Amino acid sequence: MANVRLEDIKRRFNNVTAIEDITFEIPDGEFWVLVGPSGCGKSTILRTIAGLETATSGKLYIGDRLVNNIPARQRDVAMVFQNYALYPHMSVAQNIGFGLQMRKVDQKIIQERVMNVARSLSLDHLLDRKPKQLSGGQQQRVALGRAIAREPQVFLLDEPLSNLDAQLRDDTRAELKQLHQELGITTIYVTHDQVEAMTLADKIVVLNRGRIQQIGDPQTIYASPANQMVATFLGSPPMNILPAIYENNGFDVSGQLLTIPVVVKEKLQLRQGHSYDLGIRPEHIFINEPLSRLSAASRREERQEVQEVNESQLIVEVKVVEPLGRETLIRAGLPGSPVVLNIQVGGDVRPRPGDRL
Ligand code: ADP
Repeated sequence: MANVRLEDIKRRFNNVTAIEDITFEIPDGEFWVLVGPSGCGKSTILRTIAGLETATSGKLYIGDRLVNNIPARQRDVAMVFQNYALYPHMSVAQNIGFGLQMRKVDQKIIQERVMNVARSLSLDHLLDRKPKQLSGGQQQRVALGRAIAREPQVFLLDEPLSNLDAQLRDDTRAELKQLHQELGITTIYVTHDQVEAMTLADKIVVLNRGRIQQIGDPQTIYASPANQMVATFLGSPPMNILPAIYENNGFDVSGQLLTIPVVVKEKLQLRQGHSYDLGIRPEHIFINEPLSRLSAASRREERQEVQEVNESQLIVEVKVVEPLGRETLIRAGLPGSPVVLNIQVGGDVRPRPGDRL
């Protein structure tokens, strides 16, 4: 096992800079996820660590060893790809033991280790099969098994779940997490899927256009995103971004005044008349009964309640309602404006399209 340290890594392809200013250190045994939209440079970073790409500049350490000029096979890392890359003519056992065969490890030790790995991945009843006789999930487990059997210092996983269907992906994701808890091998995992990033990572590195946007544990990144890209990339449905102008101690959002709690106001040092983007997570919006079904008295009561608990209120018009069982997703517009809000509420709440809330 080893820590992995990148110092100011840059990679250019001809005139295109794929990644730059890439600096981070993964402590021994941690599980880090590189996440970001397609083309942001995730794979280039992973392939550079693996030794399949060469950094244009910067330093890369695995453990205490500077590995910039060390060939891939001497770096003691194991990489798992999204297309599994199994040898079709070899059995499951031969595939898992392949790395050990190459290193001319004693046959008896190979057999033992293949068996142990197969057992831990529930593949022990499939050892004689060829890859094409396996399901996608089983093939991916064999690819993992081949990496584990080599007992590398570092695991590199490039979108390993993206070829699996939804249910299998969830199961395999949980298995991966458990496997990491058992083995404790430093792992770097690349994905564009924010759910995988949130659920698997000790630390997430969010990338965009070849640069690091934020590094942190999932909860911190979710609660305190460094910028709008990070804010809207993590979370589903995504965070709402509302253009607003700060006026009269509140925000003018498409002609409606959204008051904000005093504590927030003091923290932000807002300036009168300036434009801001308000970021509001869908699950932080609560809805009340449609206005048409509230009596004038209860409307007054409700307004008072809102003021007392220091909440802010907007009137919205429901456009689309998506019941998902445990929760309901609502898309609602601000009257007279193109802004549409994502709202996530409990599954028992079911407004109707056209309702004003
Ligand atoms: P991601 O894995 O996040 O989808 P990549 O690391 O594959 O992104 O790519 C980052 C950028 O580098 C992209 O703009 C891509 O087109 C470019 N790139 C990657 N590999 C090469 C290559 N071999 N030649 C030229 N450009 C490349």
